[in-house]
Amino acid sequence: MEEATNSSIQVLRESSADKENVSSFEPPNKKIKTNDSHADSKIKLEDRLCGILCCAVCLDLPKTCYQCSNGHLMCAGCFNHLLADARIKDETATCPNCRCEINRNICIRNLAVEKAVSELPTECPFCNQRLPRYLLENHQKEQCQERPSVCRYSRIGCPWQGPCRELAQHEETCAYPHKSAEEVMAALEVIDTRKQEEQKVYREIFSLLSFEKITFNDLQLRPFRTDDFITRLYYETSRFSAFNQQWVIRARINSDHKNPIHTINRTLSYQLVAKTKLSSPMSLHFLALSGPFGGIDMKSKIYNFEFTTENAETEYEDLPIEASECDKLLAAKTINLRLVMFQVTK
Ligand SMILES: [Zn+2]
Ligand SMILES: [Zn+2]
Ligand SMILES: [Zn+2]
Ligand SMILES: [Zn+2]
Repeated sequence: MEEATNSSIQVLRESSADKENVSSFEPPNKKIKTNDSHADSKIKLEDRLCGILCCAVCLDLPKTCYQCSNGHLMCAGCFNHLLADARIKDETATCPNCRCEINRNICIRNLAVEKAVSELPTECPFCNQRLPRYLLENHQKEQCQERPSVCRYSRIGCPWQGPCRELAQHEETCAYPHKSAEEVMAALEVIDTRKQEEQKVYREIFSLLSFEKITFNDLQLRPFRTDDFITRLYYETSRFSAFNQQWVIRARINSDHKNPIHTINRTLSYQLVAKTKLSSPMSLHFLALSGPFGGIDMKSKIYNFEFTTENAETEYEDLPIEASECDKLLAAKTINLRLVMFQVTK
């Protein structure tokens, strides 16, 4: 499996290496172009630019663009993915085009490409209108007549959905504003249940904040490797103290996979380990947050565990982040997070 991946990368590299060779012979290349100008002019300038400005990995036009020291372009997502990949395989990350080393210090943003890309036309997926990329977001949110809309009375149960241009007409004839309170009660209950579900985690956090014993630590997880046949990358913090005990956090990638190199959707999970012997059982709630040095988008998920002398390690629990955020974490040298711990006192 790994060999297959390598060889496909090889093919990619070779074909792009060929391209490089061609472009280094400037004069014949230019001659070919003048001979071919008729064929070339048939392809629109914007399509030719798309071919030039696209990410070397995913071929999409990059919104945030990085370049290798030889100028090959990568979108931010692929750049992070390449760095994360190299971290997992314990290799030096390289540019998929020219194989030169890439990392956060070497590779710089290319604002000219980002600005040029923002000017290139794209199509609105709702109305198929062509417009510059930098206008798309606003168009989809506020101007597009075909954008999906819901009735303003959806909150009291109107199920109508349709394109924005039909919205005004629907709302004029919508029956929901004339329904009785009795009739809209069911819809309100559905909304209440959903809202309560959303608020559950926050209420839980607030009630934990009233605990007598609370502590937080800003932790740095450093990468380590096991010396198994297939080496695994894992992360660990130094010991830190909380509630008169010593602890560490361990994290690993895709707990459910034997070899996380072969997965695209990466996940991180972590466990809390008590390093000192507990004199009596200790029940804790704990919660990982992005913290002041984390810089990633993390949801809130609270776990709890009863630590005893025999049971000093929690399960590996999910770190509630998206795969792209996971790549960001793996691409960096260390993972920073804040761990908040709440002790249940009886
Ligand atoms: Zn890309
Ligand atoms: Zn390169
Ligand atoms: Zn549109
Ligand atoms: Zn309606």
